[in-house]
Amino acid sequence: MGSQEVSTVDWQGKHVTVAGLGVSGIPAARALHERGALVTVVNDGDDERARAQAAELEALGITVRLGDGATLPPSTELVVTAPGWQPDKPLFLAAAEAGVPVWGDVELAWRLRGDNGKKAAPWLAVTGTNGKTTTVRMLASILEAAGLRTAAVGNIGVSLLDAVLGDTEYDVLAVELSSYQLHWAPSLRAHSAAVLNLAPDHLDWHGSMEAYAADKGRVYEGNTVACVYNVADPATEDLVREADVEEGCRAIGFTLGAPGPSQLGVVDGILVDRAFVANRQKQAQELAEVGDVNPPAPHNIANALAAAALARAFGVEPAAVRDGLRAFRPDAHRIEHVADIGDVAYVDDSKATNTHATEASLAAYDSIVWIAGGLAKGATFDELVTGAAKRLRGVVLMGADRALIREALTRHAPEVPVVDLDRTDTGAMSEAVARAAELARPGDTVLLAPACASMDMFTNYNKRGEAFADAVRARADESA
Ligand code: ADP
Repeated sequence: MGSQEVSTVDWQGKHVTVAGLGVSGIPAARALHERGALVTVVNDGDDERARAQAAELEALGITVRLGDGATLPPSTELVVTAPGWQPDKPLFLAAAEAGVPVWGDVELAWRLRGDNGKKAAPWLAVTGTNGKTTTVRMLASILEAAGLRTAAVGNIGVSLLDAVLGDTEYDVLAVELSSYQLHWAPSLRAHSAAVLNLAPDHLDWHGSMEAYAADKGRVYEGNTVACVYNVADPATEDLVREADVEEGCRAIGFTLGAPGPSQLGVVDGILVDRAFVANRQKQAQELAEVGDVNPPAPHNIANALAAAALARAFGVEPAAVRDGLRAFRPDAHRIEHVADIGDVAYVDDSKATNTHATEASLAAYDSIVWIAGGLAKGATFDELVTGAAKRLRGVVLMGADRALIREALTRHAPEVPVVDLDRTDTGAMSEAVARAAELARPGDTVLLAPACASMDMFTNYNKRGEAFADAVRARADESA
């Protein structure tokens, strides 16, 4: 059977255990119940919310067991799990012992695609440590510009199951996949896929860097047209080499430099394709200008090239790549330009929650007042600070683990002025912005790129970014 064909499962009377009530568990339980499966949902929590959700499912005839997500119901033939559940949980150990397969939400969506009589659209998949959401949105924008019916789905907040089982018919899906989702997706076979980059993240969940990389690499398994890798990140190319792909599938690199054959890259400010052209030894196809990418920061041009590579693998014309990139608008808090005050730009990259992301955003500006700090999640900052030291006008630190960044600055950039904010109240961000403004000189960029999670001071990175933008706008109004 060709890898893109739809496999069918006879669900009638099949005992399926759904692990976890929640965004993926509830729709999974419903979809399986509708297909005749005998569904038991198990959930660790037993709070009011869980009880209300359980009551709704029980009314349909689904069994729900609250307060015990560890024990495997005896007759289970298949476990469908929420992607975040850690692989070393007793439930999974019991499943492995009993020879019971475990699928995540992505695997379930992959298996159910096409079973409601709709066309099963091919998937163009994107994973990586950073840049997934941006790349998937760029890709969807390009596919739309090409006149294709598409949606950006997956880890991006739009459930794959909904996309696959809903009424809308798609020509192709732009799918963001997390390492957790890939871990639990053994038979997924994307048309083409990209791993954007690989840096240590979520190692507590995966157990090791090797296991994390191996789960990311699953995205290439069974690709039919292109495995897209990052020339600047050889670990991504290693994953292509290790993948078992369909006959004829090609390895396609993207680079910020001039592209070699079978690569996309940049020449004199133009994004060019030397992969999907008739003669790749001699020919290069112009796709777009660097200025068509929004914002045209180096890491974002890399994202655009990866999106372009996947679109070109799907047969999209060069003009649609350009139009799609021009139409793309980044999501909030991702290198978002908030205001210019005097001759200083204020940029919100609150989404830079790890050092790899922050490294990319610090590389995008020449002279920076950097606002950083929060929860470090076990990260170290020496490399980050060393790489950026020359471009730092000053630094304002806040949050629980700010001392770790301050120590790295003392070691590697002792001449850079540092303001250490010892407060976590709601006014802290206003003061951070005010102190950054004092440090800034005309032409500088004040950049919120914390390299840390936000939960010590804010509900999430959105709230942190909003606090920054509010403080900047208040200053802009005062100075107007
Ligand atoms: P993800 O979905 O992987 O979390 P996003 O597109 O939401 O990625 O971007 C998250 C953050 O990562 C951004 O705020 C930006 O600072 C950084 N980033 C985006 N693209 C890249 C990239 N290609 N390499 C490194 N960092 C990146």
